[in-house]
Amino acid sequence: MPDTIDYTIGWDNPASQLFQVAATARPEGDAVVFSLPAWRPGRYVFQNYSANVQNVRAEDDRGRALPVEWVDLDSWRVSAGGSNRVTLRFEYYTSTFDAGTSVLRPDLAYLNLVNLLPWVEGRMDEPVHLTLEAPAEWPVATQLERVTGPGHVFRAPDYHYAADAPTIAAPDLVDWPFDVDGTRFHAWWRPAPDLQGFTREQLLADLAALAREQAAIFGGFPFDEYNHLYQIVPMPFGHAVEHAASASYVLGPPQRLFANRGGYLGLLGISSHELFHAWNVKRIRPAALWPYDYSEPQLSRLHWWTEGVTDYMSNLALVRAGLMTHDEFWQNLASGIASLESTPGRRVLSASASSWTSWLTGYGGGDPNATVSFYSLGNQLGLLLDLQVRDATDGARGLDDVFRLLWKRYYEQGQGVPEDGVQRAVEEVAGRSFDDFFARYVHGTEIYPYEETLAVVGLTARRAPVPGRPEATVGWVLRRTGDAVTVANVLPESPALAAGVMRGDIVLAVDEETLASPDVDAILARHAPGDRVPVRLLRGDQEVVVGVELAGEGNLRWEVRPMEGATERQLRLRQGWLASRASP
Ligand SMILES: [Zn+2]
Repeated sequence: MPDTIDYTIGWDNPASQLFQVAATARPEGDAVVFSLPAWRPGRYVFQNYSANVQNVRAEDDRGRALPVEWVDLDSWRVSAGGSNRVTLRFEYYTSTFDAGTSVLRPDLAYLNLVNLLPWVEGRMDEPVHLTLEAPAEWPVATQLERVTGPGHVFRAPDYHYAADAPTIAAPDLVDWPFDVDGTRFHAWWRPAPDLQGFTREQLLADLAALAREQAAIFGGFPFDEYNHLYQIVPMPFGHAVEHAASASYVLGPPQRLFANRGGYLGLLGISSHELFHAWNVKRIRPAALWPYDYSEPQLSRLHWWTEGVTDYMSNLALVRAGLMTHDEFWQNLASGIASLESTPGRRVLSASASSWTSWLTGYGGGDPNATVSFYSLGNQLGLLLDLQVRDATDGARGLDDVFRLLWKRYYEQGQGVPEDGVQRAVEEVAGRSFDDFFARYVHGTEIYPYEETLAVVGLTARRAPVPGRPEATVGWVLRRTGDAVTVANVLPESPALAAGVMRGDIVLAVDEETLASPDVDAILARHAPGDRVPVRLLRGDQEVVVGVELAGEGNLRWEVRPMEGATERQLRLRQGWLASRASP
């Protein structure tokens, strides 16, 4: 029997929000070093889980105390003292609730094991046993393998797989299993959702259709069993994290999830995104993240590919499975383009730089006008790359083939994708150079060639006025905080910036009219671009009046539509792009 690293997680009083964690290992020298992750795969920024650790102590196999020393921010060194087994114990404080944290309450034990399990230095590849001391009658949802016998005992082949496993134990957890071509899926819910006008049969059939569409790209699933772990919270919330054979979701409020088609498509969309990650990032993974090192930043320029292109592919699966109509897809493309192109940082930070700096500003922080999401950039890059490969191969190949090539070349060889691996795979599939494309749009900040690329499949992309919105614009973002209307952002090269408006100013009046709402459209509608409008601001305890010379084009959105009189080739390429891969 191979040696194992044994973990036990329990609690005394759940109201304390403290998990009791024990990690036991056989020493291979005179000391054992235990380390807790400083970040988790899926969010490329430090989270410092050891900040939640208290009361660290250690003991031998007879319960005698052993010396333990805190040796760096996340690591503890236990002197073995000649014993056969040493155990490190600590309490872990749980506070925030999202798809990547851990939560303890009287009615819930929610564990993202990457928060809680310290690895043993040099022994990440050894098998792991986990005992969860939850009430015997509570159901448990996890991607870990259950060990038969009493209690909640699980095993994992190594530390990485164990740390990757979100695990929920709760009395109100329900399992809605379904099969997809012989592979068992579970949709776990806590609590069971009110489906309003939808049905359980339809939801599971739709999740199955999505899964079948994605598997058809790769010729099957990369796991034996898969768990969607959905938790519903009362407040507006939408967060999910991918894992090798599961995904954790925290969604709310419950009345919004199944309120209408938009809410339902949102649920299917986030589920599609997380499932596609089972291939893209969990297995087709940047070499920089292979294997995971939970103690150091693992820098990659490829998060636009791991996250943004996953977004693109997950929407494509919805369309191909017939769950999203073509018209809904065109609207989805247009709003994605509009959202990206209205982000000022998009002219500052490239897709590869945005990926690289995720550890600094990838999830907020820094100048809001100098950052941009690699999700948004990558989503559009996925669209453009797919259509340009289809154009270059007269519809014979697309991004599906790029994914298959990455799968065979890297994952099946037990390797990560090198930083230039995506470009090389695209070029190989397309049969032409993409040097120019990557230089301008991936490593550069040029505006993407939407019009000419969407024309490949007979679509037009253009900017058009939003009906009912004024053309005149100030170039600021306003936010209501309590009774005040605050300037949340001042856009670069805007009339507001030129007039000296600052982020954080409270807007008292625009054009002599006291501001009752952050929507100043009614006031702006009385003016034309070029008009000068007085704005009265409160900055600290000083009142400031500035004159803003309004600019135009404040009312533009993007529209994506089928071309009138599209050619046979355009229609053929569009059909090949959107056709189901699962149903012949
Ligand atoms: Zn993702």
